[in-house]
Amino acid sequence: MNQSLAGLGGDAHEPAVDVPGPSAGRGNDEDRLNIRSSLAFFALHLLPFLAIFTGVTRAALVLALVTFTMRMFFITAGYHRYFAHKSYRLNRIWQFVLAFGGTMASQKGPLWWAAHHRNHHRFSDTERDVHSPGRGFWWSHVGWILCDKYNQADRSQIRDFARYPELRFIDRHDWIGPWTLGAICFLIGGWSGLLIGFFASTVLLWHVTFTVNSVAHVFGRRAYETDDTSRNTLLVALATGGEGWHNNHHRYPWSARQGFRWWQIDVTYYVLRALGWLGIVHDLRPVPATVIEEARGARARRRASDTSP
Ligand SMILES: [Zn+2]
Ligand SMILES: [Zn+2]
Repeated sequence: MNQSLAGLGGDAHEPAVDVPGPSAGRGNDEDRLNIRSSLAFFALHLLPFLAIFTGVTRAALVLALVTFTMRMFFITAGYHRYFAHKSYRLNRIWQFVLAFGGTMASQKGPLWWAAHHRNHHRFSDTERDVHSPGRGFWWSHVGWILCDKYNQADRSQIRDFARYPELRFIDRHDWIGPWTLGAICFLIGGWSGLLIGFFASTVLLWHVTFTVNSVAHVFGRRAYETDDTSRNTLLVALATGGEGWHNNHHRYPWSARQGFRWWQIDVTYYVLRALGWLGIVHDLRPVPATVIEEARGARARRRASDTSP
């Protein structure tokens, strides 16, 4: 992972166009693991173990829980459902709040994140998919961010949001969010607050977020016969606040809701509904009834093929 993704290196990047061409495949130099940034990424995984010396306070554990939950929401509701898919509307101030909150997750800026994610949907599971599961579990989980190839995002994919100067600023200076949150954790919980409340929580948040790209393309059920390998995985849905209904999401990515059925728990959507009642969120895009109906048809066809001799 480059330092900017870790959000701790202050590696401000200039916008550039990097359209993965048809040649994007195995064997490119850019696809190789960047040793230096990978070491920094793995070193960050070890940092929380310094808590052996500081102890783990109750305040640090509460901080970890709060920073994990809050940042997961900024990623799922903000980076994903708003910036990548525009599944609801916000005014410009709340839009910035979600963008800044997302940077605190140390997953780079909103424009970078959403541009790459749009690319994932556009080219799902093909060679042009930035984290194609076809290249293996490791690649789709974390390998794609440990190489230099995707350090820059294709701005042509995110022109709608790139026109806002405040979003370009926060995208370029994506280190401000994590450093601010780290400082707050230190001020509240001391060294234990920093190591557990910020670093351990950040590492956990990375891997739980990454399971949507890796686990949810390998394990689980397919309600829809989409052209990709996306699956619905309850455990991922519970851990990410609803993002595990990934097969649903690939079938109809424009909906604010990813748990299409009442029993498909989607906490992010519930919070968005509550924010709608408060007048913060507008025009949550629904799932068309025909799409929900389609899953029934697919299930019936599966049953028929299972019972046929
Ligand atoms: Zn996917
Ligand atoms: Zn998506």
